[in-house]
Amino acid sequence: MPEKKHIVIIGAGPGGLCAGMLLSKRGFKVSIFDKNSEVGGRNRPIRLGKFVFDTGPTFLLMKHVLDDMFALCGRRSADYLDFIKLDPMYRLLFSDRAVQVYSDREKMREQLSDAFPEGSTGYDAYLKKEGARFEKLYPCIQCDYSSLKAFFSWDLLRAVPSLALNHSVFTNLGKYFKEEKMRLVFSFQSKYLGMSPWDCPALFTMLSYLEHEYGIYHVKGGLNQIAAAMAKVIIEQGGAIFTDTAVKSLIVDNKTVNGVRLQDGSEVLADEVIVNADFAYAMTNLVEPDALQQYSPEKVAKLEYSCSTFMLYLGLNTRYDLPHHTIAFAEDYVTNVSNIFHNKTLSKDFSFYVQNACVSDDTLAPEGKSALYVLVPMPNNESGLDWETLCAEKREQVLDIMETRMGLTGIREHIECEKIITPQAWETEENVYRGATFSLSHKFSQLLYWRPHNQFQELRQCYLVGGGTHPGSGLPTIYESAHISAKLICKKYGVVFGLES
Ligand SMILES: Cc1cc2nc3c(=O)[nH]c(=O)nc-3n(C[C@H](O)[C@H](O)[C@H](O)COP(=O)(O)OP(=O)(O)OC[C@H]3O[C@@H](n4cnc5c(N)ncnc54)[C@H](O)[C@@H]3O)c2cc1C
Repeated sequence: MPEKKHIVIIGAGPGGLCAGMLLSKRGFKVSIFDKNSEVGGRNRPIRLGKFVFDTGPTFLLMKHVLDDMFALCGRRSADYLDFIKLDPMYRLLFSDRAVQVYSDREKMREQLSDAFPEGSTGYDAYLKKEGARFEKLYPCIQCDYSSLKAFFSWDLLRAVPSLALNHSVFTNLGKYFKEEKMRLVFSFQSKYLGMSPWDCPALFTMLSYLEHEYGIYHVKGGLNQIAAAMAKVIIEQGGAIFTDTAVKSLIVDNKTVNGVRLQDGSEVLADEVIVNADFAYAMTNLVEPDALQQYSPEKVAKLEYSCSTFMLYLGLNTRYDLPHHTIAFAEDYVTNVSNIFHNKTLSKDFSFYVQNACVSDDTLAPEGKSALYVLVPMPNNESGLDWETLCAEKREQVLDIMETRMGLTGIREHIECEKIITPQAWETEENVYRGATFSLSHKFSQLLYWRPHNQFQELRQCYLVGGGTHPGSGLPTIYESAHISAKLICKKYGVVFGLES
């Protein structure tokens, strides 16, 4: 590049960091601004004394996508991160049975046969057919849908029959499995997108397939280490990261973004701006309302959003005999799901997820102690629930249910320190629109060409990365969003992307 083009990135979440890593490698001047004091966004650590928790992501799926991003920077992820493959991957706790979920085929068949009368009969067909679906669909995920021409690509046309448009993940699984609980083993993963298995498009059946095919990883020190490693690569490649530096607005002139205005009033000019802050938050807070049409505040308000979560991070002065990941289903799962997604009310009988990463990683808590992460899916803030009032009661309910369902008797006496994030706090403290922790819903009409484009359709010199843009929420897809945006920027300036793509 004759003269270094300046790329400003708003947000040092996984999307912003990955884009920064790819572009600084390719000779761009990269400056990343984040309002927080530490990088990672929802993927950053929470430190309470000597206890360390991941704020959000705890499951690393499709590790090879992360490896590819490091390889595209001429690096090996293993030189920066210590990966731990989990076996079993997780435990599922129903009111009447428990299932250990393995990526090892033989162990998984045994578990299904022990837990369900229908046994493992459908398992092989499920792996074969969903594997074939994934092979067809993944190239579509990696495409850029910034134009209709790109949308009608051969990859997508070839994949149309695999979209199973009239099915949800739950109904699609009916092809392989009869019992409801059996189907839940392979469909609760819709919650990774903040959706109900009954609403989530069938193409996402591939989420559970991906776990079984590629396994699930933990990273020593927590998944937040991935963000730290990406930041390290950016610095090594000459990029700059400014933490504790909130962006107030985009500088827009005649539908063209020329830089950003910081909270202190100073301006930073850029050749291109990449927005990694939550999409709907950014559209409603960082751009003048009249600058946008398709994503004006009124139209953004009408889009559909994922659920939220109530988070409890507990530093305990003991260690319980708990697996790394446990997902506990409400006794009446259907009602709980419907309360979260449709009625937008609370349930007394609720599903929850507990991570006890200390069983695989002794760096997260002092010896003999443990760091428990508890996530309870909740309605997003369209519910109008007042979390200031509800927070204390919900905390008690969560601790009660951990005693009764998980056998963690006397847990309250072991709490040394704790932190809570409510749906309200996701919105007010973390800049997540409506506290919808998994961003825009992944319903079909908000996917692919219909999801906000990586090359933002409303403003020139503006790109989007992160869970609210194509391909969607989840670390591997977020890295793909960064990959797509970085390639588009390289193409614009005639920079060869290189090192494979
Ligand atoms: C509770 C929870 C659990 C999850 N679990 C998993 C999991 O197990 N596996 C998985 O793959 N995915 C998971 N996800 C989903 C997803 O991977 C993460 O949410 C991911 O962190 C989203 O990345 P992002 O790039 O979209 O942006 P974010 O992580 O949201 O980062 C955006 C950044 O923008 C910054 N920002 C916002 N406004 C401004 C401003 N005005 N100025 C400057 N900076 C600003 C924020 O501070 C933040 O750092 C989970 C998410 C949550 C919330």
